[in-house]
Amino acid sequence: MILVVGGAGYVGSHLVKELVENEEVVVLDNLSTGFKSLVDIKATFIQGDLGDIEVLNKVFTTYPIKAVMHFAANSLVGESVTDPYKYYENNVAATLTLLKAMVNHNIKNFIFSSTAATYGIPNVDLIDEHQPNNPINPYGKTKLMVEHILEDFALAYGLNYVVLRYFNVAGAHESATIGESHDPETHLIPIILQHLLGEREKISVFGTDYNTPDGTCIRDYIHATDLANAHILALNALLQEQKQTETYNLGNGNGFSVKEVIETCEQVTGRKANIEYVDRRPGDPAKLVASSKKIQTELGWKPKFDLTHIISSAWKWHTDTRNDK
Ligand code: UDP
Repeated sequence: MILVVGGAGYVGSHLVKELVENEEVVVLDNLSTGFKSLVDIKATFIQGDLGDIEVLNKVFTTYPIKAVMHFAANSLVGESVTDPYKYYENNVAATLTLLKAMVNHNIKNFIFSSTAATYGIPNVDLIDEHQPNNPINPYGKTKLMVEHILEDFALAYGLNYVVLRYFNVAGAHESATIGESHDPETHLIPIILQHLLGEREKISVFGTDYNTPDGTCIRDYIHATDLANAHILALNALLQEQKQTETYNLGNGNGFSVKEVIETCEQVTGRKANIEYVDRRPGDPAKLVASSKKIQTELGWKPKFDLTHIISSAWKWHTDTRNDK
């Protein structure tokens, strides 16, 4: 049985949808940003907080958990700059409680959702795992702190872990039953699509003076289902004892500027965007593009979906299914 903490969130729910095909799954989520409706009905759902040791003790004594996958975190760069306490409390302190409970219950396998924000402002075209970590915002710092905790727990308590550093996750499941929805929404692709649906008056592009060809930030967008499949490969590598402590980047290896993403959304939807250009958003690096060669070589991961597919899957979900409309 696998415990998925944060399995009612956007990324966690995509993982659960794939994982329930082959494993029994327990989801623990406090529904602070997730939605119970996103959790696959084959999973057992428990509403609770990962920082609550009593809830964790109960879960670990009730279910024969062989691995924990941890998606429950606050993940907005801008908010982490204005409200760092929330990030250190939820992302670091609560995760430490979860790890302590795992050690106490002798649960050895852990998959951790980390981020490209650990790299800060890398000076390379493609970021591999050897790039130095110099996070420039509290969000990236909290994720890196947990990575350090994991290194020490591996040495001291024999914890096995895989850290997955995500680039920009987007897109919706092919069934269009689950997709990306935050309240308030801050992510680029859902904001563009909400605007093209007439739910927002305009799109604000944050910064046009970055050192990139069109002056807007470049990011590497990866489909949530490709990301979910990488987690399953990582989980199997831990369970089959092929890996003990690994860190992998997860991205498609292609960078798209904010302007290019807007243009692709216009092409996919056949609608025209109303754009305003405003100041930079604090905490944003100019360019983040992944080399995911390591996980491709070591675990055989291969992303299937490009930016156009990511956007068309998200558009289908926004137009057909999204339940907060
Ligand atoms: N962005 C933007 N307007 C928006 C939202 C995002 O220009 O309304 C930009 C943002 O500054 C960044 C990129 O789009 O350069 C991706 O931002 P997002 O919040 O989606 O993901 P992040 O890279 O922060 O994880």
